[in-house]
Amino acid sequence: MTNHDETFMTAIHYTVEAADLHAHLFRVTLTIAEPAALQTVSLPVWIPGSYLVREFSKNLQNLQAKQGSRKVTITQRNKCTWDIACNEGVPLVLQYEVYAFDNSVRTAWLDSQRGFFNGTSVCLRVHGQEKLAHQLKLPAVKGHPSWQAATGLTPVKTDKRGFGLYTAANYDELVDCPVELGHFWSGNFTACGIPHRFVVAGNLPSFDGERLLDDTQRICEAEIQFWHGQGKLAGKKAPHADYLFMLNAVNDGYGGLEHRNSTALICNRADLPRQTSPRTNEGYTTLLGLISHEYFHTWNVKQLRPDALASYDYTQENYTPLLWFFEGFTSYYDDILLRRAGLIDDATYIKLLGKTIVQVQQTPGRHVQSVAQASYDAWVKYYRQDENTVNATVSYYTKGALVALCLDLSLRKESHSLDAVMRGLWKRCKAGPMREQDLLDELQSLTGRSWDKEIKAWVHSTLDLPLRELLAHQGIDIQAETSTMTQRLGLRVSEVGGSVQIKAVMRGSAAETAGLAAGDEWLGLEVGNKAQGGSWRLSKLDDLPALLGRERKLTALVSRDKRLLRLPLSVPAQASTWQLSVPKDRASGQWPAA
Ligand SMILES: [Zn+2]
Repeated sequence: MTNHDETFMTAIHYTVEAADLHAHLFRVTLTIAEPAALQTVSLPVWIPGSYLVREFSKNLQNLQAKQGSRKVTITQRNKCTWDIACNEGVPLVLQYEVYAFDNSVRTAWLDSQRGFFNGTSVCLRVHGQEKLAHQLKLPAVKGHPSWQAATGLTPVKTDKRGFGLYTAANYDELVDCPVELGHFWSGNFTACGIPHRFVVAGNLPSFDGERLLDDTQRICEAEIQFWHGQGKLAGKKAPHADYLFMLNAVNDGYGGLEHRNSTALICNRADLPRQTSPRTNEGYTTLLGLISHEYFHTWNVKQLRPDALASYDYTQENYTPLLWFFEGFTSYYDDILLRRAGLIDDATYIKLLGKTIVQVQQTPGRHVQSVAQASYDAWVKYYRQDENTVNATVSYYTKGALVALCLDLSLRKESHSLDAVMRGLWKRCKAGPMREQDLLDELQSLTGRSWDKEIKAWVHSTLDLPLRELLAHQGIDIQAETSTMTQRLGLRVSEVGGSVQIKAVMRGSAAETAGLAAGDEWLGLEVGNKAQGGSWRLSKLDDLPALLGRERKLTALVSRDKRLLRLPLSVPAQASTWQLSVPKDRASGQWPAA
């Protein structure tokens, strides 16, 4: 370090250098001004917002410690924790490298095109000093004069490109502000007086940045006003003084992770708006939904949050039964707020809602776990998906969104709304930790009656939700749509290169009865007697109706572990799924209606 830095130096100081782009290595220098005699440091095992133990320490290497010129002994305590015996009060300097080659929003990435990291992947936690101010120095990247840096951290002394010194009030804030590095597109807007920045990496030359900025601004204004009203002071009441969107556009990818005053997003490059493309585009609507979702989390999970996450334990799973509220209700509002911001019409909104309903209906696991149980088990079920996930659990995103819908429509029947409940909770919980009882109390105080029965049935049981009745009351038509062959048989398949690979078999389905299993390749079928039917190669399930005619019985020929199996299969009669529509005579407007 230089004398220049020491002027600003706080108790905990990190320098994160993009040291070797081709080896994908960040080099981290951590200076602890006043270490304990036995100073413990550790790397988190998970990142808040993504409920899976990811063992970030597997990418940490070459940890060394020095006091002055003296090398200090490091004793490893477990997979992610180290004890360092030092001279108390003498500055301790740790140096290590972090391998960064995960192109997701959850860890870290470094190559010749861009860099990205979350503090949970690169910043060791200094035990006992987490509450002190933490500094992060980002040196400019050698040989890349056009690269910039962007982060939600507070700048102390930075250059025009964003390199330099940043500060965080504590360790939690440091690791809640990911950093984007590279030659990225950047634009700004204000929403209700709050400055916002949007940076995009990986975009095509035809990318229409102005349109993305305009549409995002409308989302942000709709959400700030949702929580804090239409008044002039709405922006002043928001929990954030500024906000940063970091979007990485890739060939094939989707996802986002919420942070206190920023979000990291991934989308398909093809879904970005283009100067020449029409206004409506399904992929772009999905991206706007993602932006809306992560921004809504600024209130709902980063401030108002499960009481179990009042303070994060970075060393192990942090269990909460409330993800159906924090993820599900956020999922309910992400699309509704696109509608309210005027970015989609009623028909598009209802189509998105219909898709969510069918997704839940196609999940047999909804009769095995309640959304509260699914939330608690997120660490071992939803985040560790396999062929049995669909039978074992239910998504707290989709079913949670439908719980919000049922609550909203029920409240509206009694001349209230879920909007008022959300704002009431914000006040009741002082924008902080929340328990399920707080929701029940808020419902009771708003409506003057108990909602225990509804919450028990919708959140804590595996019964289906009363959607048909509540949607009918809103004037939404539910039509039967012919189900696909995969839905009729109860399969999830991939059909690539003329081969039908079975990915999952639904509980209680015809495919399960026949003995089909995940991992099977469905090669062909025998149908009817040889004269009338015969044996056929199968390359996609949609060919089945033509091969079967009126016949419903067939023998499936499948390959499992190189053995050929003949499995008799009865194709169920035609079934149907739901298709929602807004009646044609209904005026376009805010949905749902009071
Ligand atoms: Zn979310």
